Amino acid sequence: MLAERYGKEIEEKWRKHWEEQGVYRFDEDDDVRPIYSIDTPPPFTSGELHMGHVLSYSYFDFAARYKRMRGFNVYYPQGWDCQGFPTEVKVERKYGRLPPEQFREKCVEWTREFIERMKSQMKELAFSADWRYEYKTMDPDYHRKVQLSLLRMYKDKLVYRKSYPVYWCPKCVSAIAKAELDEIEKDGVLNFIKFIGPNEEDLIIATTRPELLHACVAVLFHPDDERYKYLEGKRITTPFGKEVIAFGDREVDKEFGTGLVMVCTFGDKMDVVWAHRYKLPIIEAIDKYGKLKNAGEFDGLKIEEARKKILEKLEKEGKIVKKQQLKQMIKTHDRCGTPIELILSMQWFADIRSVASDIKNMAHKIKWIPEFGITYLIDWIEGAEWDWVISRQRVFGTPLPFYYCEKCGETKAAEESELPFYPEKAKRVRCSCGEEMKPETSVCDCWVDSSITPLIISGWPDDEKRFKKFYPNTLRPQGVEIVRTWAFYTIYRSGVALTGIPPWKEILLNGNVLAPDGKKMSKSLGNIISPAELLRDYPVDAIRQWAAMSGAMAKDRPFSYEDIKYAKSFLTKVWNAARFAEPFLKDYKPTKNDAEAIGAIDRWILSKINKLINEYTADMEGYNYQKAIGRMHNFFWHDFCDNYLEFIKHRVYASDVGERKRAVLYTLHYVLLNSILLLAPITPHISEEIYNALFLKGRKKNSSVTSERWPEAGDIDEKAIEEVNLLCRIVAEIRQYKASNRMPQNAELGKVILTLDRELNKELQEELKRISRIKELEIKRGEFHFSVL
Ligand SMILES: [Zn+2]
Ligand SMILES: [Zn+2]
Repeated sequence: MLAERYGKEIEEKWRKHWEEQGVYRFDEDDDVRPIYSIDTPPPFTSGELHMGHVLSYSYFDFAARYKRMRGFNVYYPQGWDCQGFPTEVKVERKYGRLPPEQFREKCVEWTREFIERMKSQMKELAFSADWRYEYKTMDPDYHRKVQLSLLRMYKDKLVYRKSYPVYWCPKCVSAIAKAELDEIEKDGVLNFIKFIGPNEEDLIIATTRPELLHACVAVLFHPDDERYKYLEGKRITTPFGKEVIAFGDREVDKEFGTGLVMVCTFGDKMDVVWAHRYKLPIIEAIDKYGKLKNAGEFDGLKIEEARKKILEKLEKEGKIVKKQQLKQMIKTHDRCGTPIELILSMQWFADIRSVASDIKNMAHKIKWIPEFGITYLIDWIEGAEWDWVISRQRVFGTPLPFYYCEKCGETKAAEESELPFYPEKAKRVRCSCGEEMKPETSVCDCWVDSSITPLIISGWPDDEKRFKKFYPNTLRPQGVEIVRTWAFYTIYRSGVALTGIPPWKEILLNGNVLAPDGKKMSKSLGNIISPAELLRDYPVDAIRQWAAMSGAMAKDRPFSYEDIKYAKSFLTKVWNAARFAEPFLKDYKPTKNDAEAIGAIDRWILSKINKLINEYTADMEGYNYQKAIGRMHNFFWHDFCDNYLEFIKHRVYASDVGERKRAVLYTLHYVLLNSILLLAPITPHISEEIYNALFLKGRKKNSSVTSERWPEAGDIDEKAIEEVNLLCRIVAEIRQYKASNRMPQNAELGKVILTLDRELNKELQEELKRISRIKELEIKRGEFHFSVL
């Protein structure tokens, strides 16, 4: 029997049951059902889920549960993105600095614990992963596969080592990729500084970065700029007394500052372009800790401090003409918020530019949901001017499986038999120049690890048969903000570089969850909603409904307590409806005779739910959960509970089990069963409980709503819909009338004269009299109106 209230104990009971019954299991031996495979995002192992996880993981969990009910053999593995800087920081704080091998062990230990915490939250949210296929990017076997993928790309000349300007985080002391940059607006100062021209004249150059003056290697102007044309090829002296050459370049912005630009190696991306274009000398201005280098008296100062000191000096010497406040866009490291620098550094790169158009073409072969999502990728590719720097100067990561020669710069890949490769265990390798080579100690950018998840879950590279069966995967679900990283790198590596086949058939994008105030959730703003808190206060099925309701695809949505409260009250509505029906349905078996006995009102609600089944199914097929759940709320709350259940009360409570009562039981059974089946992917717990209490009779003891077949729509009687919609309107008006006259709803009305512009047949007239308790009803033709005598 259904309990008085729906609550968390019920949910917990079913999650245990599902786990014991193995209802989420992928069936390896089934060659009949088609496979639906999901390349699920491996979350970074931070120790706790955030609301973005709840949203996006719910999204594809709906898909998995729906597809199971549609007869697919669903393959839903779950992995973990383990390695990275945040873990290193925490482990170092706890254990101090350790030798690499021990340090890595501590990181692994730490991460294992964090995985357990997140896994239990995922289970609590009823995400239906098949945990037999769990993978972790820190596992030696995962390392082996990532390294093998790099050996293949190295062989194809897609991976190389080079000294090149890279984005650099002085705080993390590591190279980072363009995709890891954030941009923030900051107040800055534009300093107008005196240089000396070829005729001893003052030339004023405006710069926000005077601390790079010592690395100035040229002065540029626009070739059409009449003010400076005469400088072409001439020598100019910097305030520090150094001579550099001046010349014209079309990419100089005439309008900025004074129209003269100092090129430093490297102040920004444009400096890199110019240095390369004109083969300018390169001066390493800043070291890897963000301190000045080759700067004479300013050597060793941190950037901010150096800027202050240099400006003081210039000011004293009268070399600053003016200062102007301005807003500037600063690039920062997304993980730590530190302003990044460009420094020349020996790093490993993956060649992107030469395969950019292949990546683009492959992206077009994948179905993007929503469709416009692909533009994020295309725009990113079109803006990519450099290759991807894949090496990170860290410890807890997948080691790059290469050797290099410090003397001549030659590189060599590890042997396949050496994998997984760890530098401290590397063998001795001699370079062709005679020198002993060094094993690379840098590790991979974590996107290198996660950009082969479709291969990993498909048995690559060891099991070819399995690979053919699973690859390409059916679905890649992911956040829209990581299109430029995860989607891009995966199409590049798994698709273009390693297999030549697009990694998935479909990619589903979700947006971010914002704080209730519409801002980004952040610790400093104190506006974070924590899943743990919600799990304490709300049923899981309410949280899952919230996810469905929030699902504007690829768009950001603020978190709303209103939504989650509404979702909770909807559960109560469903629960109460099921409890109302329980005594009548618990021993009821629908028969053909009952089906034939239905009247207009039954036909109406049956037609309505059949219509709902069609529309809801189309929504589920299109991953449009927001529409689906909205339709269900509307149908169940208003059509079914507010109207149908009220309309049939007098029939269902009749003591004799006549035809009219059997018809109503048949209808109740149909509507309620199909409603909970439709709801099962989104609210599996309440569906399961009602399914077991009301509908399981005589079926297999261990069957579950999660393995039921998806409902198919029966007949839709448009005429019944129209007629009873009219009845609903009349009933609503009479309810309103009774309420405004302070009459109880069951008060009997003597005579009602009803004016209608349409026909209300005899059957419905009788229904109306019973429903609204009207003794005598007179119907006239005309504009809608009614009066009570
Ligand atoms: Zn950083
Ligand atoms: Zn060598």
